[in-house]
Amino acid sequence: MAEAGIQTTAASPAGLHVAADLQEAQARIDAIAAMRAELPVGIDGVVVKLNDTAEQQAAGTGTRFPHWAIAVKLPAVERQTVLENVVWEVGRTGVLAPTAILTAVEIDGSTVTRATLHNPADIRRRDLHLGDTVTVYKAGDIIPRVQAAVPSLRPSGAQVVPLPEACPNCGGQINKAQERWRCTKGTACALPALIEYAAGREMLDIDGLGKTYVAALIESGDVTDVADLFTLTTEKLTAASGSAKRGVKLADQLTAAKSHPLSRVFCALGVLGTGRSMSRRIARHFGTMEAIRQADAAAMQEVEGIGPEKAPVIDKLIAAGVNMTEPEESSVTQDAGPLTGKVVVVTGKMSGPLEAYGRTEMNALIEKAGGRAGSSVNSKTSILVAAPSTSGKPSSKAVKAAELGVEVLTPEAFADLVATSLS
Ligand SMILES: [Zn+2]
Repeated sequence: MAEAGIQTTAASPAGLHVAADLQEAQARIDAIAAMRAELPVGIDGVVVKLNDTAEQQAAGTGTRFPHWAIAVKLPAVERQTVLENVVWEVGRTGVLAPTAILTAVEIDGSTVTRATLHNPADIRRRDLHLGDTVTVYKAGDIIPRVQAAVPSLRPSGAQVVPLPEACPNCGGQINKAQERWRCTKGTACALPALIEYAAGREMLDIDGLGKTYVAALIESGDVTDVADLFTLTTEKLTAASGSAKRGVKLADQLTAAKSHPLSRVFCALGVLGTGRSMSRRIARHFGTMEAIRQADAAAMQEVEGIGPEKAPVIDKLIAAGVNMTEPEESSVTQDAGPLTGKVVVVTGKMSGPLEAYGRTEMNALIEKAGGRAGSSVNSKTSILVAAPSTSGKPSSKAVKAAELGVEVLTPEAFADLVATSLS
């Protein structure tokens, strides 16, 4: 297989071993687990298979996997620390997101003081108390997560994590119908976050319309929703940004944004449950904003929040002359892909939909999606595609990307981004 150019573990320090019995197999697994940090690729487990085809046939195959192969999962790198507090923030769609504030702890070479919690129901399921000792692990390289509390270490009199009774952002009511709680005002509660999101590179791409200017435009009353961005005059943009030069640049970008494909405009609406890839799927499926609006509940069952709530904003967008159609796939030229103008660097082994992709295939995919493949991470790099390190050690490219603030995507997330270009 190696002669045919196929990479196997045989050439890596982990090796490719034949074990005589389970005891020997376990010893191998322990040895591989011990060298995890030194391996050239991140691993999260070891696969054990029967080596003899006659034995494989005798073991047979179940409905979902063969009985002669099993993956032994290695434990995630985790540390214990103390849950000091839980803070709640309102995201761009009005969802209340809890964040754990932790006593600083080092995981995988970085200091962690915050970790993601999922939702109120999840906090209750884990029975988290303030002051609890909790195990924290890194999901991928970047966002740490709280795994579980250690009840035996709970201080006496510890209180369960309090849940908010009012929206932490606007003080309004909370819609608790789903596991993820939401401010009843929805996107209106989180207008600054929504406008900043809409201005992002993948959406309207208004480079330079950052937090401060968005705040100024909302403060002045000039922006009450996404569509208002398109009514802004150069004068108003100059006032908000404090510079005539910036005002002109922002106005030019807003004009250009009117011609963006429907998927990006749709994504900028910030409909709950529609990120970039969902927006692309919806835009491709329906083709026009009109068709999206006329889609019945069955067609849209996965997409909450489309309908009456967004209708006025969509009307305003149309009135402002914003493009409401998605180009046909056949007319998508090389320079109109999701990676247009972007330099993408790939490192490590691909997984998920890209599992079978080697470097050549990845480079072809990047170019098909309108981007350019780069070999090293530098200031020109837009995206680094890297599998999450399971060894606990991020790759040198991942470290460089973090230093430069380069977006890092898992192979799965990248596959989502270039979904249109995957055959
Ligand atoms: Zn609110």
